[in-house]
Amino acid sequence: MKAAKDLRQFHNIIDGKLVPASAGETMDSIDPATGKPWSTIPLSTTNDVDSVVKAASKAFPAWSALPARSRADYLRQIGDALSEHGEELLTLETRNNGWTLDPYQYLNIVLKQIWYDAAGAAPIVGAQGKTVQMGTGNFGYTRREPYGVVLGILPWNAGLFSFTIKAAYALAAGNTVIIKPSEHAASASLRYGEILSEILPPGVVNVISGLGSEIGDVLVGHKQVNKVSMTGSKQTAEMITRASAPVPKSLIFELGGKSPNIIFEDADINQAVNGVINGIFTRNAGQICAAGSRILVHRPIFDRVIGKIKEHMTDPENVKYGDTLDTTNTMGPIANLPQYRKVCSYLQIGKEEGAELIFGGRTGGEVLLPDDPHYSDGYWVEPTLFKTDNNKLQICQEEVFGPIAVAIPFDDEEEAVRIANDTDYGLASGVWTQDLKRAQRMTEKIEAGNVWVNTYAMVGPDLPFGGFKESGYGTDTVLEYTREKACVINFN
Ligand code: NAD
Repeated sequence: MKAAKDLRQFHNIIDGKLVPASAGETMDSIDPATGKPWSTIPLSTTNDVDSVVKAASKAFPAWSALPARSRADYLRQIGDALSEHGEELLTLETRNNGWTLDPYQYLNIVLKQIWYDAAGAAPIVGAQGKTVQMGTGNFGYTRREPYGVVLGILPWNAGLFSFTIKAAYALAAGNTVIIKPSEHAASASLRYGEILSEILPPGVVNVISGLGSEIGDVLVGHKQVNKVSMTGSKQTAEMITRASAPVPKSLIFELGGKSPNIIFEDADINQAVNGVINGIFTRNAGQICAAGSRILVHRPIFDRVIGKIKEHMTDPENVKYGDTLDTTNTMGPIANLPQYRKVCSYLQIGKEEGAELIFGGRTGGEVLLPDDPHYSDGYWVEPTLFKTDNNKLQICQEEVFGPIAVAIPFDDEEEAVRIANDTDYGLASGVWTQDLKRAQRMTEKIEAGNVWVNTYAMVGPDLPFGGFKESGYGTDTVLEYTREKACVINFN
């Protein structure tokens, strides 16, 4: 194991400066592909919370007073800077969360697009107000104003993406920002903050790393934090709601899911099978909020569809593990030890509940082919498919957040809708059919923030990405980062 002095050290970014946690404490970051530490991150305390909120509050008046087009210029510069720094950031993120590099080429494009989109949105905010006739000589109008200090709380699975989508639109609207990355994946966000602080005025974006259980409540409950946007689990959303109660503030929650991917007998079967596989058994090992973790299949084609999925996923040519920076590897590890243990426990739960194991189920070094001692302590889980008729099982109701899916047969459209909606979550869904009328009916009947027909996880800045039910509320768009003020002037 590396001694602490050999590990790369990352620091908080507060008021434009790189600073260690005030108590000098750090925590090791573990590479999930090897199970070994590779860097250290600050373990901040409430003293650091005070400093970071002070910095963001101090920067707010000047930043919000800038003409929107000047703020947009800064945001464009950040987008441009990703050409130089994108690859480095994506490499850090891969060491944080184990996602193999390929999707990050895409993410690089996505991140840039968000900064440019937010730059375009900045001047539009000022044009969003309305005017109202209030009777003779009275003129009413509304203004869109920033909240002040916005706190972005990030998950470990897609830190750079969550950082970008929160910071870019909050800044465009004139807010200043504090980012609290996950303690399991903070390095990339800390370096991202450093890059941003070389472009932005001091204090406009700050990054503070520490345990959610230690500094989360204090940040959320702080009087000078005016809005919180959190991406993470519904359990943490509950804690944040409680912590924000004494000083009520506006909240955005982007939470988990148990999303159905529904294949009807009239679907293009090969297209559907590809879509289902890409919906969960991908390079991020199913660690994505929109994972299509329940595969609902029309009974007449059930065996055929499941057979094709099994054939693809059990071919060693299609599923390769190892160095996450090697793009020929196609399946990443689970991102951290607690999550690895959780995913492994669901393999056991599925078996104990009586679900039939169709393929997969192995974990750790036994997954590697050929065995490689460098990666044998990594948090590997083989893509796994269970089958059941009972959507009430724990593996059908609870978010696993790993490469474990469950296949459920259905007899008709009505039953498909009933099973699809029989969940506390409502984030995403996929429907595979060539019948346009059925497609339209399904988009109406499914209780989820996203319904994708004959495609999956098709997202973009021009469409909202939010949840229904216990998958959260609000979305990271520029208007969400403004509040509306009603003004009336009496000219009489
Ligand atoms: P998590 O809820 O464990 O942690 C999220 C963040 O909250 C971390 O930064 C953590 O430090 C912080 N936190 C913990 N306790 C806190 C407290 N008391 N107060 C304030 N902050 C606190 O989630 P995770 O395990 O990092 O991420 C996985 C979850 O995120 C999954 O449920 C997944 O579905 C969800 N997710 C949702 C989306 C989406 O857009 N809907 C995207 C990605 C991930």
